[in-house]
Amino acid sequence: MASPVYFSDLKTTFQRNLFDKLEMLLEKVDLKSKILKNELVALKLHFGEKGNSSFIRPPFVRKIVELVKQYQGKPFLTDTSTLYLGSRRDAVSHIQTAIEHGFDYSVVGAPIIIADGIRGISAVEVEIEKPIYRSVSIGAEIVRSDVIIGISHFKGHGLVGFGGTLKNLGMGCANRQGKLNMHSNVAPRVTPRSCTSCGTCARWCSFGAISYKDPDKKAYIDSKKCGGCGQCLIICPEKSIKFSWDAKTQEVQKKIVEYACGVLKGKEKKSAFLNFIIQVTPDCDCFNHSGTPIIKDIGILASTDPVAIDQASVDLVNRVEGNHDSTLSGGHEPGGDKFRGLYPDSEWEIQLNYGEKLKLGTRKYEIVKVG
Ligand code: SF4
Ligand code: SF4
Repeated sequence: MASPVYFSDLKTTFQRNLFDKLEMLLEKVDLKSKILKNELVALKLHFGEKGNSSFIRPPFVRKIVELVKQYQGKPFLTDTSTLYLGSRRDAVSHIQTAIEHGFDYSVVGAPIIIADGIRGISAVEVEIEKPIYRSVSIGAEIVRSDVIIGISHFKGHGLVGFGGTLKNLGMGCANRQGKLNMHSNVAPRVTPRSCTSCGTCARWCSFGAISYKDPDKKAYIDSKKCGGCGQCLIICPEKSIKFSWDAKTQEVQKKIVEYACGVLKGKEKKSAFLNFIIQVTPDCDCFNHSGTPIIKDIGILASTDPVAIDQASVDLVNRVEGNHDSTLSGGHEPGGDKFRGLYPDSEWEIQLNYGEKLKLGTRKYEIVKVG
């Protein structure tokens, strides 16, 4: 059976602005019925790496906070800290970055609680008994919350093709150990031709995995030491480091989906998801800059099915003309595959197929226009 995915475009009137439309979307997924009085409601989002500007704007989050309070829930904003040494590597720097990006209590009306503690090690092991993992390591405060609202910026992603709800839940709710589990075996590679031997990547690699090989002293990544954190991809000024799309990277998508199963375990009826197809950048908000969007802005989606909402988002993105001024290198025509246009060897369908296989949701959806 097809899952409903509610869609609002960005057209507004004097009587109905985008915040009104956001409220209508959350009414459609019946958010009110999911929240009992005084329940703790986790708003899982990405605050953006320092320097990034494409994360979801705080006033949208404020609107969701207001609604949760209206439904007598207690909202908090949450995420987990990163594996790499960026501006969200521990709870203190993470909260500082979030506040600098506008997610202050005075703006959004809810506190920030980093789900995996000050050093990324607070977790609850959730039993899932899936083909890859028997249990997954999820940020403790996400497991302990009563309701979860996934708020995702839909965009391209260098490891999994696109990032939406499944990625926000699966990778975004895992603690440090969980992220390491998912990233293990996915060491990136250096393209020696474009490497200038500047040394930046080795200085930033917290796993000591990068050295410089004679005779030309090009960067070299020792896959046995690499933790797969992705920091070197972000930091290399020449864009010489990339994940290669092989069986190991494809399996990361399955691992993410199994982690998403762990996040939603027991919250199947206590969750809702939003995808913002606005400022669709080539890379994720973990980058310390935001690339030119690959398409025009499309709108906001809401659903209670994490697979259907991502499938619908992919289809809406692919349906429109690509931006020739962006880094998109193919699939510009309406109907063209934008994510393979960004990452030609990516098999982004894996996360959707696997989500369906594990009965997390369905790729069949019905768009219901709202507003
Ligand atoms: S940061 Fe990039 S250019 Fe510099 S040494 Fe590393 S791979 Fe080479
Ligand atoms: S080499 Fe591996 S561990 Fe080191 S920064 Fe790159 S991805 Fe992270």
